[in-house]
Formats: sequence, C-alpha cells, structure tokens
Amino acid sequence: MQKKGEQMRILKGNPVSPGLALASIYIYKAFKADVHESYFPAGQEEEHFLKFKDAIEMAEKELNEIVTSMSAESPDKAKIFTAHTEILLDEEIEEGVREMIYESHAMPDYAVDEVFSEFAKLLEKAKDPLIAARAADLRDVRNRVLRILKGEKENNLSSLRENCIVVAHDLLPSDTATMDRQRVMGIITEVGGATSHTAILARGYKIPAVLGVKDATEILNNGDNVILDALKGTVLVEPDKDTIEVYRQKLVEYIQEERQTSEYLDRIPLVASGERYSVGLNIGGTEPEEGFKYVDYVGLFRTEFLYMGSEYMPTEEEQFQAYRKVLANAMGNPVTLRTLDIGGDKTLKYMALPKEDNPFLGNRALRLCLQHMDMFRTQLRAALRASAFGNLQIMFPMVGTMDDIRAANKVVAEVKAELRAEGIAFDERVKVGIMIEIPSIALISDQAVKEVDFGSVGTNDLTQYLHAVDRMNPAITDYYHSMSPAMFRVLGKVFEEYNKAGKEISVCGELAGDHMAALVMFGLGLRKFSMNASNIARVKRTLSLFTLEEAKEIAKKVLNLATQAEVIEFVKGEIEKKN
Ligand code: PEP
Ligand code: MG
Repeated sequence: MQKKGEQMRILKGNPVSPGLALASIYIYKAFKADVHESYFPAGQEEEHFLKFKDAIEMAEKELNEIVTSMSAESPDKAKIFTAHTEILLDEEIEEGVREMIYESHAMPDYAVDEVFSEFAKLLEKAKDPLIAARAADLRDVRNRVLRILKGEKENNLSSLRENCIVVAHDLLPSDTATMDRQRVMGIITEVGGATSHTAILARGYKIPAVLGVKDATEILNNGDNVILDALKGTVLVEPDKDTIEVYRQKLVEYIQEERQTSEYLDRIPLVASGERYSVGLNIGGTEPEEGFKYVDYVGLFRTEFLYMGSEYMPTEEEQFQAYRKVLANAMGNPVTLRTLDIGGDKTLKYMALPKEDNPFLGNRALRLCLQHMDMFRTQLRAALRASAFGNLQIMFPMVGTMDDIRAANKVVAEVKAELRAEGIAFDERVKVGIMIEIPSIALISDQAVKEVDFGSVGTNDLTQYLHAVDRMNPAITDYYHSMSPAMFRVLGKVFEEYNKAGKEISVCGELAGDHMAALVMFGLGLRKFSMNASNIARVKRTLSLFTLEEAKEIAKKVLNLATQAEVIEFVKGEIEKKN
C-alpha cells in the first residue's frame, strides 16, 4: 500500500490483452549461469565440498516444495520436478563433483558446471529422443544448483508460489507457453506490441497484459502492489485505498459486460439480414479448449508452439500423435495446420539459428523450412499421416512469391509419393494453401489463387510488412496501423480475387478477432474469420447488428478515408449508433 505523502506512480504501455488485475509484482529475470574455470588452494577441500552439499540440500528443499504445491493442480508438471530431484541426488554425479573438488581443487560452481554438462552431453547423444530430452532436465538442475551456489533466489514462471503480476523485460514465447496460468494474474513487459507472440498467447489464456512499459523491471520491485489496467494500458503502482475501491468496482462492471457479450458465444454467426459467415479458432497447442464448441473450423494451428515447448526436435511420431489429437478436438471440422513458423521473435532452444540484423525480414518460416528439408519433410509426413484421421489442411507461412508456392507444393507432392510408396494412408485430397502476409503475394492474388487450394490472411505480419513497422518494437507502435485504409484496400483486393476464383479465403491474423475490423472485412467480402476464443462473442455480437448492405456501405466509406484514426472513429461511431 502507498505510504503517507507518497505519490501513486502511473506507468504506461500498450494494452494488448484486455482485463484488469490487482496483485503484487513478480520480477522475472531468467538466471544466466556465468561460470569460469577456477580453483582453490589445497587444504580447503572439505569446506568447498560442504558448500556443494549444502547447495544440494537447499535445491532438494526447493524441489520438494514445488512438487507439494503442484501435485494437486498439475500432477504432470509435478512429475517433472520429482524427476529433477532424482537427478539432483544421483550418486554418479555427486562422485564426479567430489573428485573434481578433492583431486583437482576445482571451485564448487566450476565442478558442478563441468560434471552436469558432461552428463548432459552424453545423454544428448542417445538415439532415443526421450532419453536425449533428459539432457535439458539435467541442465535445469545444474542451473538450480549454480543459482543457489551464487546465493540467488529462485526465479521460474512454471512453478509460482502465489498469485502475481509478472514483470519482465521480455517474455519468450516458451516462457509464456509454460507459465503457471493459474497464478499469473497479469503480464507487464518492457518490449513487445499487440501482435507479438506473448500478446497473442496472453489473449489466448485471457491474461490481462500491458506490453512496452519502459523500464518496468527497474521501476517496479518484487512485492509492489499494482493495479494493471489492460483496458487503458496503465500500471498503477502502490495505489491508495480509494483507487483500489474504484478499481474493484470497475472489475465488477467489466465482468458484467463480459458476461453480457458472452451470451453471443454460442449463437449461429449471422448478420442482421440473415447471411451466414464462419468463425474459426486460432490455437497453439493440442489441449482441448472450450472454444472448439463455438466454431466451424480451426483457421490457424500454430504448430511452432509444439516445437518450442519441447526440449528437442519433435519426432514424426510425436507430431503425428499431436496432430491427430487436434483433429479429434476439432470434432470433424477442418483444421488448418500451419507448418513451422520460427525465426522472427520465435526460436528453438535446440536449433542454433544465426543472429540476423532484421530477423522479421530474414530467414523465417517457410524460407527456413525449405533450407532444412529434413525438418520440413518430417512435419509434412506427420501432417499427411494425420490427415487420414480428420479434416486436415496444410498451410505455409511467409509466402512471398510464386516460387515459394511452387517449391512448397513440390515438397508436399514428394512426401505424398513417398507415403504412397510405403503404403501409408493419408487423405489424397488434403487441401494445401498459403498465408497471405507479405504484400508481394497479396498483390498477385489473381495468380497465386490458381496454384493454391485456399488463402488465409495473416494481418499481423501483413501490417508490419505493408507499413514497414517492426511488430515487436514498442517505440513505433503508433505506426503499426492494422486498420489503415491501405490495409483495407489490400484486403479488399485479396478477398475479391479469391472469391472470384471460388477459392476459400479466411483471415487468421488478430484483425479477424477485432469486432470493428471484422465488420469492415465482412463488407469487403470476407466470410471466414479465425480468432482467439476470447474474441468470438464480441465479433458475433457486432456483426449481428448490421445488414450486409450496411456493412458494404461502411466498407466503401472506409476505403476512402485517409487515416487509421479516421477509420476507427467512423466505425466506432457506426457501432455506437446501433447500441
Ligand atoms: C499473422 O502474421 O497475422 C499470423 C497469423 O501469423 P503470426 O502472428 O503467427 O506471425
Ligand atoms: Mg505471421
């Protein structure tokens, strides 16, 4: 609570996942082991070995606490930490460290680093992927012991002890994907915009988030009480009693409004004049979600999250099982599996990618897959095999040219031929399409449409490439105009060409889930909108208020406005008139 005479501080950022939260701060800084080769003078062996033993004891205590706190809610995660205790108490490892301390006089941190790393390397070489994966567990345990030896406190998002608002410079998508969702009430980061993957995951998990809060990790302290207003984009530090009261009231109202909108969740998607459109779901994992109940298709299955949540390159069999599971979750509806989209802000721990000056303009997604053919073929084999068990379609990200389409289609044809020769079943009619997220492929939609089964617009990247605005850079979020007249002109052309050719066209970028943009896009001819579950109700509600003719009129006007601000003001006004 704020102390007498102190001013409540207000920090500002981009509200990227709506909601309100009142909780204490947890500063997340991933521990980096910084170990150097170092030795102690003879005669201190016992003292240093005891330091090591104390660290092991402390680590065991930490792990026991995690297992106890997790075993009720997440027994699967708890098992991982039980396995960590086994590694920690491994006799061979202890013997290795003892030897280095007593015989070579190695400092305990150096000895721990050497011995654990040695064992991890051995495991990594194992043919069985499950054994190889244990290397990452070993490194995790090593880091725990090293952190304790350095006297630093525990810092881990997957095993939080109490409810908190996480503050970090940046969260890797893997941090967000593995974090303890029950305990994280909100997210604040210093970098990242509305379409960064942290933002997308936060929305998917319905966790309020404000990103791009300058110097948040410096200004805020562990344990500070804050109000996170992810409707406005503010962080109120150590609020006074009155402010807390006001926000409690706001929270009640927000929940009420959400409840009213949620009545539209399971309505049939119709506009006021009766035309039907389709709502799709965007997913990043294999877990069954409630959203599947309210949609006609999965418009975007971001498969890279399977790769990012793994400690090693997932095998064909593992991917096949994962894809089958998603098809089962979709209950017969089409699932659009997007092939691996890494590079940009997404990396894999087990795949070293050269550092690039402009990663979003670099070796990303399909480009990278075409250069790592084994990885690409493995994914396509798994996807095609899964296609025998449901309604699967395959989609390529970051397509910029007809050459990309042809190269990718060629690999699909080769993999199909391989499966046929091996007598492995797959759906011969599986649809293969592209993401339209680079202007160069949007502008030749008339040609691209002839060589694909469907298109799906990735408006997150399309905005960044059309406007030359890095989607991750908080300094230029004011330039990231996904609702600019320029965007709607390009989108209108794309919808027109695909509709003319009688091929499916969907939007799976964040714009599809924005109720104002969805209205304009409906007027421009779009009938398939794929989004995060949290946006379905609002989009259905807004579209239900307008007739097709009204939506067309609105779209026509939007194309002739000059700025994004004008577009938003105009569309907002039209919606308010109906409310
Ligand atoms: C997009 O770019 O709009 C998209 C859906 O892909 P991602 O956000 O994963 O880059
Ligand atoms: Mg994209």
